[in-house]
Amino acid sequence: MGIGVINKYRAFLPVTEDTPSLSLGEGDTPLVKSSRLGQELGCPDLYFKLEGCNPTGSFKDRGMVVAMAKALEQGSVGVMCASTGNTSASAAAYSAHCNLPAFVLIPKGEVALGKLAQAMAYGAKILMVEGNFDVALKLARAFTDKHAITLVNSVNPHRLEGQKTAAFEVVDDLGDAPDYLFIPVGNAGNITAYWRGFREYYQAGRSTILPRMMGFQAEGAAPIVRGAPVANPQTIASAIRIGNPASWQSAVEARDRSGGVIDAVSDDEILEAYRLLASKEGIFGEPASAASLAGLMKLRRQGLDLAGKRVVCVITGSGLKDPDLAVSSIAAHAIEVKATLAAVEEVTLGMMG
Ligand SMILES: *Cc1c(COP(=O)(O)O)cnc(C)c1O
Repeated sequence: MGIGVINKYRAFLPVTEDTPSLSLGEGDTPLVKSSRLGQELGCPDLYFKLEGCNPTGSFKDRGMVVAMAKALEQGSVGVMCASTGNTSASAAAYSAHCNLPAFVLIPKGEVALGKLAQAMAYGAKILMVEGNFDVALKLARAFTDKHAITLVNSVNPHRLEGQKTAAFEVVDDLGDAPDYLFIPVGNAGNITAYWRGFREYYQAGRSTILPRMMGFQAEGAAPIVRGAPVANPQTIASAIRIGNPASWQSAVEARDRSGGVIDAVSDDEILEAYRLLASKEGIFGEPASAASLAGLMKLRRQGLDLAGKRVVCVITGSGLKDPDLAVSSIAAHAIEVKATLAAVEEVTLGMMG
């Protein structure tokens, strides 16, 4: 059974004979070629990496499986994380799988319904903190410094090791690295992990180029773009509502060494990309995920030429995570009809024109 990132990329991961090779089937996510938006945006060689296809619906599973395996190897008695939602859903799932208690600290009122439902269903102990993500992470760090419980936020080095496998998959699928990688940036662990993955594969001779790393924060939560922490970050994209990223320095390094950019996109731009992804590609990502496409659209408007370039947008999580936003932000409604064929024909054929 060769499933999961630990089995597939063992040679590149910090695993030993004593590391349990667990898996919920994470990784091996689709890289889908754009059918319409790429053409429309003058970027015909555009691909979407669908990380919402991971077991709990976000890329967090890639890192969580490695962090959890290492925690078990080291005899940990429990795990803790602070989370805007997806980390807690992932930690909760893997700890249920391993029979290890999970404690998640979530910012009160800031976690999307689908994510909270997951953490609860998997049986995590949920502590709702009066404060934002940055406050919750500080508390989780202080607690795990003091007690024999493993911190599984992306400050846990095994998380980023697991997450870099997404870059390996992109190269394995394309036969080489892309010219550009567009990616949402919140706590900045993922952009760091992708850059590490691309570099390691390059050094191992698996690819001949390194991509430019193009990271996008939400305008109201853009500390890296502004060059200073944001005390009260605001955006509808809850997964990137982070004012003081843990991997700030390494994200800046990824940007500078790759010749890339870290820029901001507005909530309106995120929502537009979110709708277009679903309606023109059939890809329903959560709002934070759409920051990658929103960034591509912004730079295209500013004149970046992507014709002839191979471009990958990372779609970090599933749209089903945030059903409230989907309903409230998409201008569509169901048409009521009588339960007769004639009524269905009248409405349907009328809309076909
Ligand atoms: C965690 C997350 C992000 C942000 O990733 P970072 O590593 O914190 O920069 C973006 N999108 C989704 C869906 C996430 O779950």
